[in-house]
Amino acid sequence: MSTSQPNAADSNAKPDHTLTKLSGIGPKTLQQLNALRLESITDLIFHLPLRYENRTQVSPIQSLREANGALIEGEVIAISPAEMGRKTTLCTLQDPTGTLSLRFFHFSGFHKSLLKVGQSVRCFGKTKWHHTQLEMHQPDITPLTPLTLATHYTPIYPTTRGLTQKKLEKLIQLALEYAASHQILNQPRPALSGIFSEHSISPLDALSTLHHPPANLHFESLHEQLERWRRRLAEDELISHIACIQRYQQHVKQRQGIAQPLSAERYQKFLSQLPFELTGAQQQAWREISEDLAQSIPMQRLLQGDVGSGKTVIAALCALTATENHMQCAIMAPTELLARQHYEQLQAWFSDTELNIELLTGHLSAKQKRDALAALQSHQAHIIIGTQALFQKAVEFAALGLVVIDEQHRFGVAQRMALCAKNPDRHPHQLTLTATPIPRTLAMTFYGVVSVSVLDELPKGRKPVITAVMPEQKRPQLIERLRVVLSQSEQVFWVCTLIEESEHLNSIAAAETHAFLTQALPTARIGLVHGQLNDAEKQATVTAFKDKALDLLVATTVIEVGMNVPNANLLIIENSERMGLAQLHQLRGRVGRGQQQAYCVLLYKPPLSENSRKRLDIIRNSHDGFKISEADLELRGPGEWLGVRQSGLLSFRIAELEKDSDLLPLAEAFVLEHQNTLAFQDLITPWLNNKVDYLNS
Ligand code: ADP
Ligand code: MG
Repeated sequence: MSTSQPNAADSNAKPDHTLTKLSGIGPKTLQQLNALRLESITDLIFHLPLRYENRTQVSPIQSLREANGALIEGEVIAISPAEMGRKTTLCTLQDPTGTLSLRFFHFSGFHKSLLKVGQSVRCFGKTKWHHTQLEMHQPDITPLTPLTLATHYTPIYPTTRGLTQKKLEKLIQLALEYAASHQILNQPRPALSGIFSEHSISPLDALSTLHHPPANLHFESLHEQLERWRRRLAEDELISHIACIQRYQQHVKQRQGIAQPLSAERYQKFLSQLPFELTGAQQQAWREISEDLAQSIPMQRLLQGDVGSGKTVIAALCALTATENHMQCAIMAPTELLARQHYEQLQAWFSDTELNIELLTGHLSAKQKRDALAALQSHQAHIIIGTQALFQKAVEFAALGLVVIDEQHRFGVAQRMALCAKNPDRHPHQLTLTATPIPRTLAMTFYGVVSVSVLDELPKGRKPVITAVMPEQKRPQLIERLRVVLSQSEQVFWVCTLIEESEHLNSIAAAETHAFLTQALPTARIGLVHGQLNDAEKQATVTAFKDKALDLLVATTVIEVGMNVPNANLLIIENSERMGLAQLHQLRGRVGRGQQQAYCVLLYKPPLSENSRKRLDIIRNSHDGFKISEADLELRGPGEWLGVRQSGLLSFRIAELEKDSDLLPLAEAFVLEHQNTLAFQDLITPWLNNKVDYLNS
């Protein structure tokens, strides 16, 4: 491999930055961090704030206006008795300029001990008008005495149930210190030629600034000012990905593939038992793919097709081809739900064959797992469908010939490489399926794919989903409509999305909606899935819905990817104005998969901004995923980069292709220029999921 490969001793001693090396991480905290998909110390330092609070300056009470956060200091001069059963507790605070009411919706023992008449406190909270008076809602309180003011803005992170902002901030601080003492991300690098950038500071310093922006930056334009550091990190990330892909391609070039032709009879036989005919686009894509498969050059192909365009049957044809050639096929799905759905679908399609299909996910019993692994190793299993679990070291194949990866933007190249390395002799063919419209050149730069097929036609008879945009005040009318729909034994999805700060809050919103609907529709059978349930619970509910044992499914966006329930013809999405269009389009693809006319209702909280109205108009009027994501990019304003991570193009930690695409050619040139001189391992490894040891494969 290339000269930047470190010596063997080094590369085997891969540092192990597990979370438990930080103090204060016991089993419970670890579980909470994992729920946020934080699995290593590097994940923690890349877990950036959603927004910041300004606690660096105390405001005189007189100067307060309505604001999302203000810091005040004063003396408690009155407090309403905190009686049981009382809704709110009011406390009056005075400073030399005036007085302010603090309103508490939860009043704990801690509050009681601090808020006594005559005591001075510091409060940070949201200020709001109550009739003619400004007041502060549920502020954070600290005793005044020994405190100095923060010298940096306070980060607010995406978090999960039970993990407080304070604790998370502390852990991230520890992670940053750990990185500094272990020389992680501490090296500046040469400049990209052609642009001004902050290459001369280390990535770690840039990250520290993003976590704790110093108070000498202007709070009002903080996000714009932080852009410099974000860009600096985005450069490194793009360099890392490009270097990684290039290595991957070199590696593939050195390996032989496995020619796997499919006979015309076998193909026809498979088609004849499908309940539908392939679309023209599916036939064309399959011609392209099957030509590749018949060659001994490893296929590296991407299949792009909008939601509902029928990518799964192509995956099944791949599996058929591999097994016809006495090879095994692995199909990877991004979630347990989806893996199981593919498993059931393929079992149905292959029910007249002798093929043995196995499922491998993280939630099988130990025995089931052992059996599946043994079957793979002995070649008793011909097709395996699974999640990330397929990457594990213990998974060994007798003859892996073909790898299909569904919804690829959730997996990186390192993971694909790890999977392909499971055939040590010859390189398996590889097909990745995606509904995300990625421009061809980007796909090549970032996936190392060599060719792209497109499904640009939906199956016949599919009618576009009729989409309505509705203020949430019209809920009663909607419920009336639901009664009619449900009485015709059709099924309904109700998707709750609330805020990006925590899936926990989303789950609460979903539970509340579930309770509300259960009351409003007493005869309906209503199920609930959200991210706080375990996979078995989720699976049971989804299965019940598919089996029509439930009429209505209330869900958070966990249902976004790939769920297929042809009998569901009405989808309701709450808070739609807050969501990315690409995500709305994906969600909408959950209905309209059968022959019936399907409907989608986008509920919003008025008033709608001009921009939100335009965005919702786009989704109402267009059904073309590609056009929708283009329009989305155009309309999404600047300064939102810390906001919701779009379920969009690629899963970068920092880089955003909309903003950083100008860096791509520069990063490519950089890799070319420095590939023999730079310690790429130091630069690259922290950016990748460090469980995957791609540099050594
Ligand atoms: P996606 O591309 O989103 O993964 P799927 O493969 O899940 O789409 O297909 C969506 C639905 O359309 C499934 O129920 C599938 O069986 C069905 N389907 C696929 N191809 C065709 C076709 N050519 N004609 C009719 N229905 C089809
Ligand atoms: Mg799919």
